[in-house]
Amino acid sequence: MKKCLGLLLIFVTTMGQAKQLALSFDDGVNPDLNSQAVQINQQILQQLKQHQLKSIIYPSVIKIGDYAGLQLVAEWGKQGHQIGNHSELHLNLNKHYISSQQYIAGIQRAEQVFRPLTGWTARYRFPFLKEGNTLEKRDRVAAYLKQHHYQSGAVSIDASDWFYNQKYIAYQKQGQTQYLKKLKQAYIAHLLDRAAYYDQLAIETLSYSPKHVLLLHVNAINAAFLNDVIQAFQAHDWQLIDSEQAYSDALYQKHAKILPAGESIIWSLAKQKGHVNLRYPAEDAPYEQENLKRFELP
Ligand SMILES: [Zn+2]
Repeated sequence: MKKCLGLLLIFVTTMGQAKQLALSFDDGVNPDLNSQAVQINQQILQQLKQHQLKSIIYPSVIKIGDYAGLQLVAEWGKQGHQIGNHSELHLNLNKHYISSQQYIAGIQRAEQVFRPLTGWTARYRFPFLKEGNTLEKRDRVAAYLKQHHYQSGAVSIDASDWFYNQKYIAYQKQGQTQYLKKLKQAYIAHLLDRAAYYDQLAIETLSYSPKHVLLLHVNAINAAFLNDVIQAFQAHDWQLIDSEQAYSDALYQKHAKILPAGESIIWSLAKQKGHVNLRYPAEDAPYEQENLKRFELP
């Protein structure tokens, strides 16, 4: 009887566990270059508030411009979100002409800019999710982050919201607003597909479904559709959680010793384990052409 009860309990707890997902937002917006910047920032924050979600922004100094852009980043902290570090110049560490010294200087300078803000947290997100193309660069930057008590700013679910954002802006510019509804559907289908893919890859690699962190950006498409995105995830049995809660998962203590280093933490652990059929880069614009066709988008 006792054994039956135990089995039943395992069954019930496993059944009741929704897949969990936190959102994260990279780059920030520059009001000097983007007339919609203030609105984009506000709308994203408003939708997070509506769903009572605490998230994390990873701003990069070059992406936000001067004072006005920094004020938009500061707003995240004031509303209870975390503010991480996404470097000064948004460099790709895997480029042969980028040295570890130069790269580390960019981490330091960004920290000087963002550390004074409420909500600052020492988490580092590598631009383009590129963590080094040589052993020296990978290990030197990782050692720097460790010495300076940085925690992981990894994503588990990589995606190409930036690509759908480009389409969103192009359709609007060209007055092709008839495509926006289908674009929203295509964008949401893409995010759900990537979430399912990385969750399955995690189960194969780690033998469990971790608390996920999804890569998004502070951009126009998320300002327009974040509410729909959140509702779509919920409708597909995903529970939305705060980013700090997601980062408590043991997954984010792991590091894969691969070269080139980076991509999603799940992708890199799968690669290290010898998983075949992993495309490189893990996510990119050309992969999305098929999805656009599927939704009859030009
Ligand atoms: Zn970025």
